[in-house]
Amino acid sequence: NRRPIVAGNWKMNGNLALVKTMQQSISSIELDNVDIVVCPPAVYINAFDAPDLLTGAQDISLFEAGAHTGDISAGMFAELGCQFVIVGHSERRTDHSESNELVAKKASAALEQGLTPIVCVGEPLQVREAGQVFDYVAEQLDAVISTIGVERLSELVIAYEPVWAIGTGQSATPEQAQDVHRFIREHLAKADSEAGMRIRILYGGSVNARNASALFAQADVDGGLIGGASLKQDEFLAICQSAN
Ligand code: 13P
Repeated sequence: NRRPIVAGNWKMNGNLALVKTMQQSISSIELDNVDIVVCPPAVYINAFDAPDLLTGAQDISLFEAGAHTGDISAGMFAELGCQFVIVGHSERRTDHSESNELVAKKASAALEQGLTPIVCVGEPLQVREAGQVFDYVAEQLDAVISTIGVERLSELVIAYEPVWAIGTGQSATPEQAQDVHRFIREHLAKADSEAGMRIRILYGGSVNARNASALFAQADVDGGLIGGASLKQDEFLAICQSAN
């Protein structure tokens, strides 16, 4: 009985006006069975002013403080009232050369400060075409498991985001998503069976108001990490409703 999460990853989009619109529309609906999380650019987090709204950061530093110009630490986001942080998004892995090891350290830094890391994993197209999806994703997960330790495993949220589905309009099919989600859950369960049962695994990659229900209906899909569609209020709310 895992409570679904729908998290909106705004990426580097939005403005103060969108903060106001989104806040109003999310507060206007009553959904009892889904956690709705908004991950705007860091500068807008404090502009959200709704006690019932969950917020998350899109990335954190692996350090807690110090001479790291431009970086923001987990503790700083925690102080703003954030509950979540996305780590290891494929855009960070690509644009900022983030390795599995670095992502694992960021997950650890988040847990230290009481933030729930949403750890993104997922394969590029060549890996899928070569039939190596499970090995690739297992390696991404193993780095995190060995760094944070099996004791803390159940505190994670995982997001499966196949790189070829991100921002392309070409979502994974519900069956493709379920295949990998089941693999992820079984892989985590090998490290800790309780954690395997409890961890919420979100699907991300071209989720929209039309495909969300079928994706969320899959046994091991516990909600979504939404990019483009999280910037449109009606569409984001419809996606949240599909998970409720
Ligand atoms: P899109 O929903 O725009 O494909 O982005 C998915 C994503 O990267 C969420 O983190």
